[in-house]
Amino acid sequence: MFVFPPPTDATLVEGVDVRNGIHVVQLTEPGDALQKLLFLCYPPAVTNQPPDTLDGLHFAYGAADKYQIPNARDNILNTLSNANKTDPYRVFAIACILGLPDLARAAAGETLQDVRVPMSFNAYSAPEYKLISADKLLQLEQFHWECSMDAVIAVQTICLNPDDAILIDGKDAPWWKSSGHDHDCGASWMGDDECIPPKWYQQHMNTVKEAVKLRPNGECASDAVLDFGTNCSDVLFKCRFCARGSPAHMAALAAALRKEVNRVNEQTLASQQFI
Ligand SMILES: [Zn+2]
Repeated sequence: MFVFPPPTDATLVEGVDVRNGIHVVQLTEPGDALQKLLFLCYPPAVTNQPPDTLDGLHFAYGAADKYQIPNARDNILNTLSNANKTDPYRVFAIACILGLPDLARAAAGETLQDVRVPMSFNAYSAPEYKLISADKLLQLEQFHWECSMDAVIAVQTICLNPDDAILIDGKDAPWWKSSGHDHDCGASWMGDDECIPPKWYQQHMNTVKEAVKLRPNGECASDAVLDFGTNCSDVLFKCRFCARGSPAHMAALAAALRKEVNRVNEQTLASQQFI
């Protein structure tokens, strides 16, 4: 329809709409989507377009596809990728509408930075939700839950397993040692095999588990481990041995846990088929 030059006189062709000498072509897409599409035909620096929003972007992408405007399509994909960090739930929904599996996967990965809200997406509602299947949101929720459970297992494995404890200068963390502590602090042994860390450390790790259940990502896990000064300050003030030895070991633990949680998340994300 855009190939032949339009007539300039409405009287020449009956039923043809001409305004100000310009042939009006009726399109099926909403006006705001077409406006967005026209802006997105060129790089943002050229058009000086207003700050972009995600509104109508899925319509514009469909139109770019239909009218074969690859530039606009690429610009839309860039806009979506850029919005992924700030609005991953919405980008996820748009990726589902457009059938873009890599973008859906990337957006799902970003949702792990947000607090998990089980079976309730009110906090992250998106206008595009009405255009996707509830099954997609359920899949996203299940993915988030799976990462939460894996993160809790990672805390158990990395932080609560004395057999694989991290040594610094060949020394164990104070919470795995039974002697040298003040008051009733220190590790205790159940028989010859099972080493139980002091209560303050167990409580701290329970807090870390709760944190990663809500936000199952490496950075959150690391921050929660390093927050031991706030969580355990009373005990640490009482036990000089723990107060002296804990910071370096906690830092090593935080780094190891961050790496492990991120590794497991990447593995889980790679196995997801959202589309
Ligand atoms: Zn101690």
